[in-house]
Amino acid sequence: MTDHLPSPTVRTVDELRAALLSARAAGDSIGLVPTMGALHAGHLSLIEAARRRCSTVVVSIFVNPTQFDEQADLLLYPRSERRDAQLATRAGADLIFAPEPAEIYPAGFSTAVQVSGLTDRLEGAARGAQHFHGVTTIVCKLLNICGPHLAFFGAKDAQQAAVVRRMVADLDMDVEIVTLPTVREHDGLAASSRNARLTPQQRRRAPCLHAGLQDAAALAADGEDDASRLRARAADRLARAGLEPEYLALVDPDTFEEIDRVERDGLLLVAARLGEVRLIDNTLLHVPSGPTPERRPEAEPDAQHDQTGDELSVCNA
Ligand code: AMP
Repeated sequence: MTDHLPSPTVRTVDELRAALLSARAAGDSIGLVPTMGALHAGHLSLIEAARRRCSTVVVSIFVNPTQFDEQADLLLYPRSERRDAQLATRAGADLIFAPEPAEIYPAGFSTAVQVSGLTDRLEGAARGAQHFHGVTTIVCKLLNICGPHLAFFGAKDAQQAAVVRRMVADLDMDVEIVTLPTVREHDGLAASSRNARLTPQQRRRAPCLHAGLQDAAALAADGEDDASRLRARAADRLARAGLEPEYLALVDPDTFEEIDRVERDGLLLVAARLGEVRLIDNTLLHVPSGPTPERRPEAEPDAQHDQTGDELSVCNA
């Protein structure tokens, strides 16, 4: 990590706007990657994508207090700004925007941006609607502060990306929202800043979230379109690892309304707690069109979707 001097870090709205003046005047495309820091491979994939598509890449690092529903989660959230600046630079960031909370929420701050409907369900129901109101308010502010042409988000937080798209469409914000695929660890666990807080034993069980989703995806690919059977297949894998999901929902990928049957595509989302750590994941289920093939009897999940021996030993326990 010594090959690059980190890109400049700016801390105030005025500094960021001044730093972007010449790029804007030159008509350069500006890309923004909003993060809460503790950068991992998932964040870096967004920065790399921004680098490929934009001439100027801004990475924001701000642990936004208003989107945390648990004080302990906020206090324990990992912070590593120097390391983050190095990693972001290496991945292609030109500028880091790392404001203090008082810069973003000065005394007297009293505005919130709220998307309704979509924010009541799943993460909104589990964490409280304030979570998404915190997300939309900070993302709206970051878009206003930076004025990017493109902003990059991860599919791992699928509902968050949908809520941001809704806000941008409803408020006629002049920015393209780009969503990129979930980056995973070698055993399928979605990369997350919270993974570092898992104990070794929890870390061995955590890939079951992804494995369960993959089991359901395989069943859907075989022609199964019934939501309860698809959810049961994923739940089975979680149960065998001793995990009780907070939710395991099959929804329409556009509206996030729960569906009984997958017409073509459905989004299967899961949230589960391992001790103090709450993890989420999702996968798109695709049911091939055409006549439904004869359904297989409820068989043991196919082991081919397990990606490591570790996962097999724990998830099939
Ligand atoms: P966070 O720092 O957790 O707020 O995440 C910042 C951005 O990185 C969000 O758009 C997330 O969806 C995205 N992100 C987080 N984890 C991953 C991952 N494993 N793969 C791809 N994107 C991710």
